[in-house]
Amino acid sequence: DRTATDREIARAEAHSAHNYHPLPVVISSAEGAWVTDVEGRRYLDMLAGYSALNFGHANPRLIAAAKAQLDRVTLTSRAFHHDKFAAFCAELAELCGMEMVLPMNTGAEAVETAVKTARKWGYRVKGVPDGKANIVVAADNFHGRTTTIVSFSTDPEARADFGPYTPGFTVVPYGDLAALEAAVDDDTVAVLIEPIQGEAGVLVPPPGYLSGVRALTTARNVLFIADEIQSGLGRTGRTFACDHEAVVPDMYVLGKALGGGVVPVSAVVSSREVLGVFRPGEHGSTFGGNPLACAVGLEVLAMLRTGEYQRRAAELGEHLHRELNLLTATGTVTAVRGRGLWAGVDIAPGLGTGRAVSERLMTQGVLVKDTHGATIRLAPPLVISQEDLDWALDRLREVLGAA
Ligand code: PLP
Repeated sequence: DRTATDREIARAEAHSAHNYHPLPVVISSAEGAWVTDVEGRRYLDMLAGYSALNFGHANPRLIAAAKAQLDRVTLTSRAFHHDKFAAFCAELAELCGMEMVLPMNTGAEAVETAVKTARKWGYRVKGVPDGKANIVVAADNFHGRTTTIVSFSTDPEARADFGPYTPGFTVVPYGDLAALEAAVDDDTVAVLIEPIQGEAGVLVPPPGYLSGVRALTTARNVLFIADEIQSGLGRTGRTFACDHEAVVPDMYVLGKALGGGVVPVSAVVSSREVLGVFRPGEHGSTFGGNPLACAVGLEVLAMLRTGEYQRRAAELGEHLHRELNLLTATGTVTAVRGRGLWAGVDIAPGLGTGRAVSERLMTQGVLVKDTHGATIRLAPPLVISQEDLDWALDRLREVLGAA
């Protein structure tokens, strides 16, 4: 009986813009790696809010931090100081090995902030002629949905009908150092990339790419901006995906898990030379760095400092990738990519689209999401047990007929 589910979905369809195509499940509660729908069915969440739920649903430490802050003060705006702000900024900067933080709310806002920061740094510090600043980005990127960000998307769905487009961006193939080198000129202020491309299908660049980007940007006095909104904060088995190549960018762009799946929290984290370009009135956000966001963010930082979540992602991730790679031998899967508890799995032609496989997995109690036709993405909360992970893998084998 799907009455309650169908009713909710019909009402949502009638009254909300159709800018998403959700799986037909209506969730009403969740804990850890498990969610429950309006009819009492349970599902293992193998998507984790696109990595926003790295610490699981209703993580007791995060909920306690949020509840305590709800009783104290939730919003001051940046017109006044509040007593969670300094600690959050200082501790986030420390986690990143940086000096300064500019907090925002959503990922797209943080990317916009990084773009504005790089341009201002270009004019004020590098000496780029006014209006000439250029930022090099990668094809198949996903950095968010604002008009400027979709201007440098290469995905027609994300971009078509939303022009006129913001100028000042050059697109080069992802993972191609020679193309990047050719695109950088004296007016280039930044290279903006995802260290692993999430929405593109969990694409890991060739070994040496990130360190090559670092060497090139340093040599050419260009900022290296790493969008770690999806890849950062434990997902890949390290705090940052850049850590796998011992690379430190000039700017980290963070979001998603920074708010623990409780509140939207994003940030740009960088040096004093770079973030020091801002003067009062030049950028901001009413909710950016609010007390509730900082209280939850502080607890997220405390959890990341233990290294426990990174370790779990590394260990369980190794197990996940070993099992997924065995699937390729069955011919049901044509490619597996990723790092840590994060995988893009390409379904063999003939076994159905990524969407069809996601729907079949849903009926078996496993929630994943497709991307780009043939791919499904796996990114469970880092708190998932190995037993639950194995159960999800069994369901995947079943659905693919590889059992
Ligand atoms: N950057 C990356 C790498 C992302 O994966 C996302 C979201 O999926 C964003 C930016 C945009 O974040 P938000 O949806 O919070 O605006």
